[in-house]
Order: sequence, then C-alpha cells, then structure tokens
Amino acid sequence: MTTTRFAPSPTGYIHVGNLRTALMNYLIAKKAGGSFILRIDDTDPERSKEEYVDQIKRDLEWLGLHWDRLERQSERLDRYAAAADSLRDMGRFYECFETPTELDLKRKKQLNMGRPPVYDRAALALSDEDKAALRAERGDGHWRFKLNHQRIEWEDGILGPLSIDAASVSDPVLIRGDGQVLYTLASVVDDTEMGVTHVVRGSDHVTNTATQIQIIEALGGTVPQFAHHSLLTGPQGEGLSKRLGSLALRDLREQGVEPEALLSLMARLGSSQPVELRMSLDEIAEGFELSQFGSAPTKFDVNDLFPLSARVLQATPVEDVRAEIEALGVPADRVETFWRVTRANINTRNDLAAWWRMFSEGAEPVIEEEDREFVAEAMAMLPEGPFDETTWGTWTAQVKEKTGRKGKALFMPLRKALTGQSHGPDMGDVMPLLQTVRARG
Ligand code: GLU
Repeated sequence: MTTTRFAPSPTGYIHVGNLRTALMNYLIAKKAGGSFILRIDDTDPERSKEEYVDQIKRDLEWLGLHWDRLERQSERLDRYAAAADSLRDMGRFYECFETPTELDLKRKKQLNMGRPPVYDRAALALSDEDKAALRAERGDGHWRFKLNHQRIEWEDGILGPLSIDAASVSDPVLIRGDGQVLYTLASVVDDTEMGVTHVVRGSDHVTNTATQIQIIEALGGTVPQFAHHSLLTGPQGEGLSKRLGSLALRDLREQGVEPEALLSLMARLGSSQPVELRMSLDEIAEGFELSQFGSAPTKFDVNDLFPLSARVLQATPVEDVRAEIEALGVPADRVETFWRVTRANINTRNDLAAWWRMFSEGAEPVIEEEDREFVAEAMAMLPEGPFDETTWGTWTAQVKEKTGRKGKALFMPLRKALTGQSHGPDMGDVMPLLQTVRARG
C-alpha cells in the first residue's frame, strides 16, 4: 500500500515551505488510496515543545490534511537502540571522540588543501584501550555509520536519476555523545518499519538521502521512492529561510488566508500546471502529478494568496460562515443578506467585522458641499428604522419627486451620505442592514 509521511520537528511553527512537503506527501497517498502518517520528529528533548506539536496538528486540521496515523519518535527510542545494535554487530557503526573544535579544525585544514571536508575516519584506528582512555577523559563518544565508498544512485521522483559518491560524504553521526539519537537514524528506522513507500522532502535533504539509502540497505529495509522538491524563494528569487518565520501557517490563517487558497497555490506552484482555485482536496489530488514539478527554485509571493482567498469567499455558502457572522452581532434574520452584500466586497473574512461596524454604528457620512442642502432634505424624508428591502426604492422615489434630481445625481450623494463610500454593494441590500444613520445630523 502506498504510504507517505509528513515528519516535522516540533521545534517551531510550520510554514509555507513545510506545507509544500506535507501537501505533496498527502496528495500522493490520497491519490493512490493509501495511508498518510503524521510523524513527529521529537528526538531532541531540548528543542521539541508540546506547544508546537499541538499547533502543527491544528494547522493540518485547519487545512483538512487528515492523517491516518500519528507517530512520535520519542516513543520509539527502543527501536532506534535496536537498529544501532544491529549496525554495531555488522561493524558498520563506530565510536568517535573528536570535539566540535577538533572537527572544525580538520575541516579547515582540508579546505585549505583544496580537499572536500570529509571526516577522515581517524576514529577507526583507535584501539580498545585508546577508546577506554578517551571515554574516561571525554565521556561517551558519538557514533558514526560507516559508509561503503561506492556510488549511491536513485531515480528521484522530481530530480530524475541522481548519483552521489559516498566517498565525498562524511560518515553520518547517528548517535550523539549524550546518547541522543539523531534524525538520520530515527527516520530510516521509521520509514522502514512503517512501510513508507514514498518520501517527498526538500532538496536540502538530497545528501541525507544518499546516506539513508545505505543505512536502509544495511538494516535490510526496502528503499522508498525518494523525491526532492525545490526550495521556495521570495518573489525576486531571494532566499526565504529568514522570512519563513513570518510565513507560519497560523499567521497566514490569522491574516485571513483561506485554506483552499493556500492549498490550491501550494499544490501547483513550481509545477508546469497553472494555479487554479480548487475548493476541495479531492479535486486538487485529481490533477496532481509529482513529475510535473521542476528542480528550479520556486518563487512564492504571499500576496498571491489574497486574491485567491477573496475568490474562495465568493464561492462560500452562507451556512459555512453563519456562526462567525452571528458572533459579530448580526441578527440571525440578517445573516444571509449580510453575507450576500459583503462577500463580494471583502479580501478576507477579517474584513467582515468592519462591515458590521459600519452597518451597526453608521458610517461617517461623506457629503460634498454642493449636495449639502439636498442631502439634508432627503434625510428629513428618510423613515425611522428598521429599514427593509423596499426602503431604498420607496425613499429615493419620494426624494426624486420632491427635489427633481434623478440618476447618479440622486443616488450617489445618498450612497456617500449613508455609507461614506462612493461604491459598494447594492443600496437596496444595504438598507435592511443599516442600524444607524449618522447623516441624519
Ligand atoms: N524532521 C525532518 C525535517 O523536518 C524530516 C525530514 C524528512 O522528511 O525526512 O527536516
């Protein structure tokens, strides 16, 4: 069965870049009728926070990206210890004692000599006595996986055929000196034991993939199909990594971005298909093809989300927003009219509150000097509220009769006096919502 996973580390809020990864994995599983796992990569007890785990779940739920299974790496430490034992038994795991400063120095020397900064495997030459002495002096060492120095090749679902020379990569550290299991090992054990068939992640993981393939093979697992999507950049191609913090999903939600807008954009951005607004994940999944994504960095402009969000709102039935509108104080029997009138005149649902304020508290009237007398005369004829659907028609007919004004000269000053704006929704619809008229003077 097709099985995919989204594996965030709960060390921060997830952002648009993470969403791209989550969505691609979700859509692959969905399209194949397979299973989508939410895996919390929380082997780092210091940086992982429960608050982030909760927010990750809320973000995914908000988007409708339901997971079939939830896994937490912190609950699987015994599995990783078992895998580490197997690697040790095979002679593919060795303990090292270099300090970060020593490693840094080695790297600098290599770079100075024009060589790639690959770990020199000095620890392989340590005798048992050497290690015991170092352990006594420095505490437990960190453990590296011994790569086989050959080419590691795979057919990448996005990047095509890839090959990395293992000799150009340092033996990866899988367990730290303090015993903490690192992501590379935990991820491989999970992918293997959970039957993950497809792994899509950012292209910053390409080198990890090479080493992970060797670890999977050493542990006797089946290598999943890997695909690496390009990283997002800003609209001018500038790196986004520093700004991603401000592109957290929960912030976008707060700014009024609609989930359908976000999903429609992220499911197509960077692919050969145009971005089209889709109102459900089923529809988004239908046209989704991983192979249509390119390797070039993908430009992302947060401003593209707002026109799409406005279109989502225009297609949103009143039932989906009723509770929210009533919470603003709109009387139940006015909710439908309120939504019909406002939805074509808002960018995000956050704008609804301002509209209701305008209706309930009355707008600051805008009255041109030459209309002052006319507006005063008209206001004197405006019936007491509450207004209904017929108010505008009846009232303006009477004003026309009395003043002789017609067309734009009649309607525009009255619209501006009542709403403070020169355009907006149909005034026949506006009147039943209007609770206060400040222009009465
Ligand atoms: N926790 C890893 C990350 O957030 C997961 C990478 C992967 O998908 O394997 O980068």
